[in-house]
Amino acid sequence: MRILIAGGHGKIALLLSRQLADAGHEPVGIIRNPAQAADIRAAGAVPLVLDLEHSTIDQVAAALAGADATVFAAGAGANSNADRKLMLDRDGAILLADASVRAGVRRMIVVSSMGADGFDADSDDVFQIYLRAKSEADAAVRQRELDWTIVRPGALTDEEPTALVTVGKTVDRGSIARADVAAIILALLVDVSGVGRQFEVISGQTPITEALAALPLD
Ligand code: NAP
Repeated sequence: MRILIAGGHGKIALLLSRQLADAGHEPVGIIRNPAQAADIRAAGAVPLVLDLEHSTIDQVAAALAGADATVFAAGAGANSNADRKLMLDRDGAILLADASVRAGVRRMIVVSSMGADGFDADSDDVFQIYLRAKSEADAAVRQRELDWTIVRPGALTDEEPTALVTVGKTVDRGSIARADVAAIILALLVDVSGVGRQFEVISGQTPITEALAALPLD
């Protein structure tokens, strides 16, 4: 499968690229900085330069030609301001979804965030805007004619993966290794599981494939 990953140089994206390439797939890492191309290649992916904050739907749809699935793993980053949360974390994800519809690429996995729907609508705190951006992006993706899955991880760590998780419509606050999130995305893509499902996930006691097979219905 040819999988386009938005935020290709991100930590989850690089781990996912390696896992996809090792499993015989063709990951394509979308980057906005051409200097990151060598890192993308080193992770086993093909680099594709595209800035999701400054691209048209036609440009993104053209980049999606021949893809079997997309993954939104981009993020404006911890030090970004509220405007970029809305421009990338929300509008960038919606742009990718709309371009996927236009290009006929039905499968889409979104890396969202635990607790996204609990944002404080009256707050201008950047973290609350981030949660709002994720929540509104997820709501838009759920409305699209796509085979979407929305993954809402707890706090991300760079620890070693355990391949053991707790999933649910909502779960207690907790953390999860980025490599485990990547393994979840790989499993969702390869097994074509979790279509039309949105779930929170943290590190836990259940093997990933078993947890995904028992995903809650909305
Ligand atoms: P990350 O390492 O922060 O990577 C994000 C990537 O997005 C970067 O490579 C960045 O590239 C790229 N990006 C930024 N603006 C872009 C644009 N306009 N067009 C294309 N790409 C752009 O991400 P991560 O830590 O793997 O996290 C992945 C996702 O999980 C994010 O959506 C994050 O919000 C979400 N999440 C995070 C946590 C947490 O605890 N941190 C918890 C739950 C969910 P540049 O190098 O060009 O900036």
